[in-house]
This record gives sequence, C-alpha cells and structure tokens, in this order.
Amino acid sequence: MSNPRVAILGLGIMGSGMAGRLLSRGFPVSVFNRNPEKARPFSERGALVQNSPREASTRSDVIISMVSDDHASREVWLGANGALAGATPGALLIESSTLSVGWVNDLAAEAEKHGCDFLDAPVTGTKPHAESGQLLFLAGGSDQAFARAKPVFSVLGRDAIHLGRVGSGALMKLVNNFLAAVQTVSFAEALALIDAGGLNREKAITILSEGVPGSPMVKRVAARVASGDFSPHFLMPLIAKDISYAIQEGSERHVDLGTATAALRVFEKAIAAGYGGKDFTAVAQALAAEKAHD
Ligand code: NAP
Repeated sequence: MSNPRVAILGLGIMGSGMAGRLLSRGFPVSVFNRNPEKARPFSERGALVQNSPREASTRSDVIISMVSDDHASREVWLGANGALAGATPGALLIESSTLSVGWVNDLAAEAEKHGCDFLDAPVTGTKPHAESGQLLFLAGGSDQAFARAKPVFSVLGRDAIHLGRVGSGALMKLVNNFLAAVQTVSFAEALALIDAGGLNREKAITILSEGVPGSPMVKRVAARVASGDFSPHFLMPLIAKDISYAIQEGSERHVDLGTATAALRVFEKAIAAGYGGKDFTAVAQALAAEKAHD
C-alpha cells in the first residue's frame, strides 16, 4: 500500500522535525507555515510548500496541525483559508498541538460536520524525538480514526496510546506537562538553595539525580543546567501555556492544582525577566540570576 499524503500545518520546532521525518521516509508531504521563511527550505527537501492551510490540506489524506495554542489551532483549521475548508470529506484530521480539551471538542465537532475523521493526538518528547520518529502520541478519538493514523504514527512515534474519546489525549498531555513543569521548578528551587547554602553543586546534583528525587525530568533539567545550553527545544512560554490550560481543566473539574499554580508563577516571572526565548529548563538559570541580584 502506498504511503498516505500528509499535510503538516506549523513548522516550528516540532512540526519541522515531524515534516522532515516523513519526507525522509518517502511520504508525500505538503507543508504550511504562517511565516513562509520557515517553510521555504522544505521545498528543497521534496515537500509541496503551500501558502495557506487550505491549499496544504487539499488532496491530503492525513492533515496534522502542530501549532502553539488554542488560538493558533483555530486559525489554521477554521481561519480564512483554513484547513477544514480545504479538507476532502473522509480525510483524517490530527491535532497534535497541546491544547485545551474544550477547544479540541469544538474542533472535533467541526470535523464531524465536514465528514472527516478526527483525533486529538498531542505528543510527549521534544525536538530530537520529533526529528528521529521517537515521539509518544496520546490519542483521543474513535477506533477507526486511531487505526487510520497508524501508518503515520509508526513513522513519527515510538508508540501511540489510544486513551479513549476525543479530548482524552489533550487532557492526558496537560496532566503530563503540569507534572513535568512542577518537577522542573522544584529542581530549579532546589538548585537555588544548594547555591545559597554553599553546597558543592556537582555533588548535590549527583545525590539528587541518583536518589529518589532523580526522575527522568529532574535528570533532564540537571543535564541542561550542567551543559549551560538553554537553546530552545521547548520554549518557556509554551510550558506556561500548558500549565494554564491544566489549571483551567482542574478548575472545571473542581480539582485544585496548587503546585501547578505555584510553578506557573515562577515561569511567568522568568518570562518577564527576559527568558521567554529560551528553553523552559532555563527557569533554573533565571532563579540563579535572581539570587545573584539579591
Ligand atoms: P514553536 O516552535 O513555537 O512553533 C509554533 C508554531 O505555531 C509555528 O509554526 C508558528 O508559526 C505557529 N503559530 C503560532 N501562532 C499561529 C497563528 N496564530 N496562526 C498560525 N500559526 C501559528 O512551537 P513547538 O515547540 O513546535 O510546539 C508546537 C506545539 O507542540 C505546541 O502546542 C507545544 O506546546 C507542543 N509541544 C511542544 C514540544 C516541544 O518540546 N517543543 C513537545 C511536545 C508538545 P510562525 O512560525 O509563523 O510563528
């Protein structure tokens, strides 16, 4: 069976890695990015570069959106020249951005009106995982839609987990990211205390990493801190967005995410201090700099 024709909407850190991976595996790929500069190099790599989500979606079997937030998702699917207007009835629409459950449900209803299959399938993993096909898809939607997505998921991901109805992938992703965000901020605060108390940083980080607090997240942040490289794999404003959405989901279900609220405050402060263009792990750098200015 030949590979399905795939449209990728959004060529940021994640979408560009995913488009590159599909192209390297011989998939026919159409791409769209709001800023056309980011799309141009994909023409040399064999993609059909289009000027609107609508054009990118026409004649695509599978349409994947990978953009910043609810607002961006609404723009690419339903905006002027949006993807839904170009999608052939029967196409499979996959929303892989990290979004609120409410918006994902609205979008699924629009897809159904248009006669398309729909999955919310946000991912875990970051820049290198997108480039190397090692993402984990967290999917919500019908069995049929999930089965149809398999050829694409198997190239882009190490696995795909079907969590249930539409919206369950989105909710799981927000749970995942709020917990990762809280651990990141806790580690950054631990580091500030280690420094303020005059402990040996290297020894302290080894103790934490090799002991019970040493979760994969803590280890990953510790490695970024040790390297001093905070070039963005996952921009700080995007994790702040994820925490806000998680808090909102909690509040709608009467679950108070107090630790998420505290973590959000720390990220917002770091963004206000000028760290918004860096990786979210640079929150450790922001706290260290704040301490140095005391
Ligand atoms: P990114 O590098 O900041 O890229 C964001 C993309 O969204 C760009 O293509 C941007 O277009 C587009 N966009 C933003 N606003 C738009 C609008 N109003 N209309 C149309 N397009 C718009 O972000 P990313 O890291 O690739 O993340 C994409 C999604 O994946 C986010 O939901 C994020 O939370 C999620 N995610 C990220 C990671 C990660 O590690 N990076 C991991 C898992 C999930 P322009 O280039 O024109 O600005």
